[in-house]
Amino acid sequence: MGVHRTARCRGPYGGEGHQAGGTDCADPAVFEVARHNRPPLQVCPVHLGPSLLLAAGVLWPPGIRLIGRPATPATGH
Ligand SMILES: [Zn+2]
Repeated sequence: MGVHRTARCRGPYGGEGHQAGGTDCADPAVFEVARHNRPPLQVCPVHLGPSLLLAAGVLWPPGIRLIGRPATPATGH
């Protein structure tokens, strides 16, 4: 309980509505990008940079929140 459900990356265009199906990325979202008058855009690390430039309504400077963990191999850290 209390564990984040894994969100899918919506980047880099932040597809909405009928365009939502156009995002091919199936990676789990790790960051959430704040947007003006739109729901936050959830993206994977690879699409974080592109989404800041390509997605509509992104604030500048960008508001980025960490919502998940990158799928890195466990290090026993
Ligand atoms: Zn992605």
